[in-house]
Amino acid sequence: MIDFCILGSGLSGSKIASLLSKNYSVEIFDKAKGIGGRSSNKKLNKLISFDHGLQYYSPKDDQFRNFLKKLIKQKVLKIWGGNHLDFTFKKKTNYQKIIGVNGNNDLNKYLIKNIKKNLNKEIVRIKFKKTYWEISGKNDKFFSKNLIITFPFNQTKKIAKRYLDTNFLNQNIKMTPNITLLVKQRTNKKIPISSIKLRNKIVSWAASENSKKRFFSKDNYWTIQTSENYSKKIINLYKKNRNYYSNQIIKEFSNILNIKSKRFKPFKIHGWKYSYNKYKTNRECLWNQKYQIGICGDWFIGPNAEASWNSAVALYKKIKKNPPSKSRRV
Ligand SMILES: Cc1cc2nc3c(=O)[nH]c(=O)nc-3n(C[C@H](O)[C@H](O)[C@H](O)COP(=O)(O)OP(=O)(O)OC[C@H]3O[C@@H](n4cnc5c(N)ncnc54)[C@H](O)[C@@H]3O)c2cc1C
Repeated sequence: MIDFCILGSGLSGSKIASLLSKNYSVEIFDKAKGIGGRSSNKKLNKLISFDHGLQYYSPKDDQFRNFLKKLIKQKVLKIWGGNHLDFTFKKKTNYQKIIGVNGNNDLNKYLIKNIKKNLNKEIVRIKFKKTYWEISGKNDKFFSKNLIITFPFNQTKKIAKRYLDTNFLNQNIKMTPNITLLVKQRTNKKIPISSIKLRNKIVSWAASENSKKRFFSKDNYWTIQTSENYSKKIINLYKKNRNYYSNQIIKEFSNILNIKSKRFKPFKIHGWKYSYNKYKTNRECLWNQKYQIGICGDWFIGPNAEASWNSAVALYKKIKKNPPSKSRRV
């Protein structure tokens, strides 16, 4: 039996797994095909890829910044250069944007490179059996002494309800949705924009994937995110009419750039139901010794990757204060 089963390969799952793996046997489970959760990278083909979740790291905390700096030296991460514009189309240079050399899940991959990962494995039920956890996928079961959940708040609540107190369950956490569209723009011209932050009723941000210099193409590939209001309006509708909403977003974006909309071809429209939590909760993580269950994730602390990192570090410190015994290998 393993010591710690970690549910989720996002940054909080990857960080806590990497910390615990120094002293315990650890395995990761994720329902997605790839690593990274909300910092995943979508491949269009062998060459072209899109960061369709997290756009970049902009560390505030020294510990996180120093770690990212170390990974820049090791060529796992790099600075995203070029022209980052604000809504007036003027260059904004006030903070560094750090990205993965190959994709924005490079940091996750680095952290868990030596840890066993079970991908494509949706966990549908968890059950505490007095001294250990029974963790059920759709067709199989796993066993672990301790359990860590790193899902967004609503999904955590759903799966772990029986083991959480009412104060925790009744927290008023509403994670903001986001709609992300991945598109190709047919062009022969180099577009001198790396990213642009917009104040528009539909589009709020666009990133040129070409500007990350991970591939070369004469066409331009954009990751476009929609505004909070628009995302809220269509998050439960877009799946029924993907073409309609993709074209609506493209029309608005092409107007902003003053480019004919027929030059754009949509590849994927994705709705993040729980994109981020704007507000802080009154704790950084949760560790329940009685049930040997831990919970961490960005939503405890803030709306970004650094919050996931800090929540995982806080959980590790709590576990270290009262270390669970290691399981006997069977
Ligand atoms: C569109 C978008 C843009 C963003 N841009 C930025 C940015 O520029 N900078 C920044 O710092 N932050 C950004 N963020 C926020 C950042 O991505 C998150 O804060 C961070 O990635 C969250 O990591 P996490 O590990 O806490 O959660 P997640 O990454 O959500 O990890 C949870 C994992 O649990 C898995 N999971 C869920 N349910 C199950 C189940 N039943 N069984 C198995 N696995 C399951 C999911 O597949 C996922 O991999 C952005 C987020 C979005 C959505």
